[in-house]
Amino acid sequence: MQVYFLGTGTSQGIPVIGSNHSVCKSNDLKDKRLRVSVWITWNESSFVIDCGPDFRQQMLNSGCTKLDALFFTHEHADHTAGLDDIRPFNFMQAKPIPIYGHKYVLENLAQRFDYIFRTENRYPGAPSVQPIEVINNQSVFMDGLEIIPIDVDHGGTQVFGYRFGDFAYLTDVKRMNGTEIDKLIGVKVLVVNALREEPHHSHFSLQDALDFIHLVQPEKAFLTHISHLLGFHEEVQKRLPKNVFLAYDNLKITI
Ligand SMILES: [Zn+2]
Repeated sequence: MQVYFLGTGTSQGIPVIGSNHSVCKSNDLKDKRLRVSVWITWNESSFVIDCGPDFRQQMLNSGCTKLDALFFTHEHADHTAGLDDIRPFNFMQAKPIPIYGHKYVLENLAQRFDYIFRTENRYPGAPSVQPIEVINNQSVFMDGLEIIPIDVDHGGTQVFGYRFGDFAYLTDVKRMNGTEIDKLIGVKVLVVNALREEPHHSHFSLQDALDFIHLVQPEKAFLTHISHLLGFHEEVQKRLPKNVFLAYDNLKITI
């Protein structure tokens, strides 16, 4: 399995529009972060988790030319606002793109993207999706791979993380209960969000993320959904435990 980090930034991305913060002014490419998303390839399958406002640029940057499914973690705009840009995949693949998400997320998207979800009087060329509900404790199977949803609390908003064999991807976590944490037992590579040093009402801080990684004990962990307030990539990386890495845009890992 290959995992490509399409974006590793928090909701505003880095640089933030109009910001004079030194991290936003950094020339290090690892300090440039699009909105959070990953592209996973497995055998012949190709799927993306979340479809934020940078989706088009991310597909171009990564060279992704095939999309078998989109998985949504939750409905917030930094994870969904790019849905219109699946159109090239509709044209190339000549069929609706399966989109997986919690019932509430699919309903929310159907309101916000009415023209995509409507079945009558469709605009020719509008994006085409096949909504598929993700239910907690019910795995999704794709190309021989079991995908396990993991229920996460994002400060009152329900979020799904997903485990794919030895790999798990969790973003926008603030709290998780024990039965959900148990779904991560034995995972080799864990991705989890770490916003900044300061506590936040709906995201793990860096220390929250490190405590969580210590609990789960993966071989390796990658941090994502990063704010410019966390600091320069290079400096923060030096302070992390030896099996914990700050993810960065266009990082590729093999599991
Ligand atoms: Zn987010």
